[in-house]
Amino acid sequence: MEFTKKEKRGLALFDLLLHGRASAEERTEYINLHATYEEKRMGKLLSEMSAEDFEEYKALEENLKRADRDGGYCPLCRNKGYTAQVEEGRMRFVTCECEKRRENMALVTESDYAHLVTTKRFDNFEVDKPWRKETLRRVKAWTNQRALPVLYLGGKSGTGKTHLAIAAFYQLVLCGNRGKLISWRDESRDLKFRMTEYGYYDKKIRELKTIPLLMIDDFLWQPTNGNSLPTDEDLRLAKEILDGRINMGLKTIITSNYSIGELNKIEVVLGGRIYQSSGGSENYCVSFGATCENYRAKKIPSLVDLAEQESPFDELKGGAAHV
Ligand SMILES: [Zn+2]
Repeated sequence: MEFTKKEKRGLALFDLLLHGRASAEERTEYINLHATYEEKRMGKLLSEMSAEDFEEYKALEENLKRADRDGGYCPLCRNKGYTAQVEEGRMRFVTCECEKRRENMALVTESDYAHLVTTKRFDNFEVDKPWRKETLRRVKAWTNQRALPVLYLGGKSGTGKTHLAIAAFYQLVLCGNRGKLISWRDESRDLKFRMTEYGYYDKKIRELKTIPLLMIDDFLWQPTNGNSLPTDEDLRLAKEILDGRINMGLKTIITSNYSIGELNKIEVVLGGRIYQSSGGSENYCVSFGATCENYRAKKIPSLVDLAEQESPFDELKGGAAHV
């Protein structure tokens, strides 16, 4: 590596400063012409820094580096995914918040629903009928509250249940929740087939029970579509996953062709738990289909109204979260 004349002079001055042999003029010359950005920022010369100062210097140098990672521009870490911090005199690397967001997003883009996430949004849900408008309002309100962990969208297919479920899911991911979208049809078949594979089954069930946000599409789906009932095995699996999630208050979005009334008839304990943890039909247990058409806007104040008033995500609504 060939140094320029200026660089050579800078190095010579640095060497003199480091060994305490620089004159006042030489020190001034170094400050004016050769000091690094970090030295200027810290208001101290590298050659005169204590060990602790030097850790600060290294952290500053790290934090000034940029990286070309995708997932938006983060001014905090300049898109590196980490920042350097000095704690008790030692520099450490700390994972940046944006890296968690990047991981959350990766979970979504790797799912089978990735292509739907950007197209099924709150803003393009058709509100041509009063019940659709009211349903949209309720689903949005669910994303703004914490008291009731379950959103149950039950009823006929082709009514926009999955659309709203995905929109709600994505809204929560944008607010920092780590989440997974699954199709009951595929996931339950997979789990039932590989039930005896201890390492596989156990790991998968644990993930479904503990991930902070889970969307289950077509819950308890049956091949004959309404003409046959879920098997005992299906119900056992459903209870295992939902019991764990509800006990821990983890956000769960469910779409199903069964209305909550039908589900209650099939399995009263499971139906009851879902009804209770979604706040019932006044709140986030939403019915689609036949009963939707004669939906009457009820005047009883519900948690839906409260959630609309006090949104912890208000500040996010104007930005990227408003999709
Ligand atoms: Zn960052």
